Amino acid sequence: MMKDSKRESEAINGAAESWRAFPARQQPDWPDQDELRAVTGRLAAAPPLVFAAECDLLRRRMAAVARGEAILLQGGDCAETFERATADGIRGKLQTLLQMAVVLTHATALPVVKVGRMAGQYAKPRLPSYRGDAVNGPEFTERARTPDPRRLREMYEASARTLNLVRALTTGGFADLRQVHAWNAGFVAASGAGERYEQLADEIGRSLAFMRACGVDTRELATAEFFVGHEGLLLDYEAALTRTEPGGGRAYATSGHMLWIGERTRDLDGAHVEYFSRVANPIAVKLGPTTTPDTVLSLLDRLDPDREPGRLTFVVRAGADRVRDLLPTLVEKVNAEGALVAWVSDPMHGNTTTAPSGHKTRRFDTVVDEVRGFVEAHQELGTHPGGIHVELTGDDVTECVGGGNAVLEEDLPHRYETACDPRLNRTQSLDLAFLLAEGYRA
Ligand code: PEP
Ligand code: MN
Repeated sequence: MMKDSKRESEAINGAAESWRAFPARQQPDWPDQDELRAVTGRLAAAPPLVFAAECDLLRRRMAAVARGEAILLQGGDCAETFERATADGIRGKLQTLLQMAVVLTHATALPVVKVGRMAGQYAKPRLPSYRGDAVNGPEFTERARTPDPRRLREMYEASARTLNLVRALTTGGFADLRQVHAWNAGFVAASGAGERYEQLADEIGRSLAFMRACGVDTRELATAEFFVGHEGLLLDYEAALTRTEPGGGRAYATSGHMLWIGERTRDLDGAHVEYFSRVANPIAVKLGPTTTPDTVLSLLDRLDPDREPGRLTFVVRAGADRVRDLLPTLVEKVNAEGALVAWVSDPMHGNTTTAPSGHKTRRFDTVVDEVRGFVEAHQELGTHPGGIHVELTGDDVTECVGGGNAVLEEDLPHRYETACDPRLNRTQSLDLAFLLAEGYRA
């Protein structure tokens, strides 16, 4: 008996703690280690935010994406904040994603796997000062900027609140396909580019009428399957929420269904790759413009040694000017290994510029150009453009320039509300979905 529980605790430690022997980039310098241990100790005893069976289900869904039988739509804030984990904010993002998903489903005739960049996206790499609400505060004071481990507890609580509402909305009627279609019809009627989208929206309307006329049980259409994910950056937090199946089985990150490794923390010998190699969730890795085929193959070996479709997703964020050159070589190398991964486009992070006003921004046309390049490259190779990962909000913010209801450079100060990178607003997000739908149909 004693022996068993000892072995079990070793298994837990193995998966959750092995990363500590590797260099961990982008970790905060927590000033009070005792406090950190107290907080992570409480988190280790707290209920998981997601369950292993849900992660397994998403792995099966991602396997369909990898095989070319489904599309991934992932989106949400660059950085969530505790203050804005409000019902309106969450509902707005969910509504936007559901609307985009309907457009993409119809255009591709494939199921769309929906993953919010939500309920855990609280930590940022790369900022020398504000590292996300999980670590410190955005105000320009020494007090606010000092990493505070109690924020990890707040991150858990804000994620739980968000997930609770997401689960309620997606199963409680809010996601009803007929309602989502009505929102889309409203968007098309009001949109600057409305005429262009009218045909697609009409087709969706007719499909729904057809199903109704055939007596299809529309209760099936009243709920949506929805998952959440975030960058697994703060390894103390992720380790505290790692849970191992009874009897020393597989370990899961239970802070979200799908976690990804960012561009700045994907070193092969680093702690993030080690941690991710030990958990059974579906996982993703960002690939920037300087990614070499060798790096991709090494990541594949470390993170998907058994070559299981659904395990690994590569999120390419090369920039609109690089994606057409870079992607084909990477895809061909992976294919030559006999591996089947999901390829997804992040058209945001390779296309950030600074406006004359000093605002960090992205041009809608450049974002669309990168997605087009990504889709075309796959179409030429005969491989599957697996979907998109975007930074968006349901609010009418003015952070990215352009779109059907064009945001101009001089509009940027009006509603520039992001805690980090510029997000597509609601209109720009829907514009992107309609344009991408055209691309998939081409
Ligand atoms: C992000 O997704 O906000 C991000 C920091 O991306 P990347 O790691 O690709 O730079
Ligand atoms: Mn970002």
